[in-house]
Amino acid sequence: MTLSNWAGNTAFRASDVHHPSSLDELRRLVAGSARVRALGSGHSFNDVADTTGDLVVLDRMPDAVEIDSAAGRVRVPARMTYARLAPQLDAHGLALANLASLPHISVAGSVATGTHGSGDAIPSLAAAVSSLDLVTADGSTLTLARGDADFPGAVVALGALGVVTSLTLDVVPSFEVRQYVREGLPVEALAHFDDIMAAGYSVSLFTDWRETRVWLKRAGDPGDELPADWYGTRPADGPRHPLPAMPADPCTTQLGVPGPWHERLPHFRADFEPSGAGDELQSELILPREHAVEALRALFAIGERIRPVLHISEVRTVAADDLWLSPFHGRDSVGVHFTWIKDPEGVRPVLELVEETLAPFGPRPHWGKLFTRWPSCPERFRSLAARLDPEGKFANDFTRRLLGE
Ligand SMILES: Cc1cc2nc3c(=O)[nH]c(=O)nc-3n(C[C@H](O)[C@H](O)[C@H](O)COP(=O)(O)OP(=O)(O)OC[C@H]3O[C@@H](n4cnc5c(N)ncnc54)[C@H](O)[C@@H]3O)c2cc1C
Repeated sequence: MTLSNWAGNTAFRASDVHHPSSLDELRRLVAGSARVRALGSGHSFNDVADTTGDLVVLDRMPDAVEIDSAAGRVRVPARMTYARLAPQLDAHGLALANLASLPHISVAGSVATGTHGSGDAIPSLAAAVSSLDLVTADGSTLTLARGDADFPGAVVALGALGVVTSLTLDVVPSFEVRQYVREGLPVEALAHFDDIMAAGYSVSLFTDWRETRVWLKRAGDPGDELPADWYGTRPADGPRHPLPAMPADPCTTQLGVPGPWHERLPHFRADFEPSGAGDELQSELILPREHAVEALRALFAIGERIRPVLHISEVRTVAADDLWLSPFHGRDSVGVHFTWIKDPEGVRPVLELVEETLAPFGPRPHWGKLFTRWPSCPERFRSLAARLDPEGKFANDFTRRLLGE
């Protein structure tokens, strides 16, 4: 059976797939392999996780979570999914600051690609990492922690430095969130983008570049309701799916019903695979926050070209971080996401048009999604990869394109 990613658009070319069950077994495997790479939960839409050698899946490694409430941190095994981690944290009165739209993704894979949710003040999931343990090319172990010189290069690292075995994440006290959907946001309201995105702890716009809905995830005072005609919108009269035509069953509870952070921050419920699973492709371009309104207007202007191959777009805000390969490095950002129909040939010219339209705003691609324009690789990441993996054991076509090799 061919192993492929979740979307089914990338067949992994690995000669062997391994499921080590101990650190020692993993170390021997890496040391003895000429070409090796870890696979997370396989939710990336490109070949970032591919290898022609040994693909390592850590799903049989010990999966205990170590919670240190006093220090405000949790140590998690790399292959742990957010869906499994979150309820364990919540049971201890703790939370992660944010989650992605889908909780089924692995922590190590999400962190390696700079995966994020939305929120003006909240950085990517990778920014919550305070230390990580990895097995490097010769099979030895290495721990890097915040404050170490190499640490900012090793968090969003695309699997290029070694196999991460565990990560320590910052946690915060558990909190409740209420989720609301507002429909019919007029294009003119984009002038108020900053106020709209600041109206909740985590706010997303869903648009087909004609009709726009606002997804608000609000924490705090339940008395703090929005005006009935907030920026020309109306409250949704029932639960909604991000894709307007789809039933809302896989979605987290809406209509302002309070609930724990991990049952509201993701759009999709942990006990459901989103319906139509795999019947889509995704791209996302990340822009400096200050260009948000101009960039969104430019995309509305080409909406007719985008719509024939689009399921839906999502616009999110993400706070800056200091991780070298992070799309949010050094700048507060707006992420413009595209869920495409599963037609790679039809999507490609439209993606190229979107990239061209956004080029004046300095976009960076989401590493786990489809893109055609490669950013340049920071020199210090190149040096770090060459130092930790001199023979390019963890390199693959994706990282070679990034490194210009
Ligand atoms: C339905 C859906 C919804 C999504 N929603 C969001 C979203 O809301 N926000 C967002 O930003 N992205 C989103 N994504 C994209 C997704 O978060 C990224 O593609 C992420 O990388 C997936 O994690 P994964 O575990 O599946 O990683 P994989 O695709 O398995 O791997 C990604 C990278 O991580 C590396 N890696 C994995 N495990 C390890 C390890 N142990 N050690 C070293 N390297 C490792 C791999 O080698 C590869 O380079 C979504 C994807 C899907 C399919």
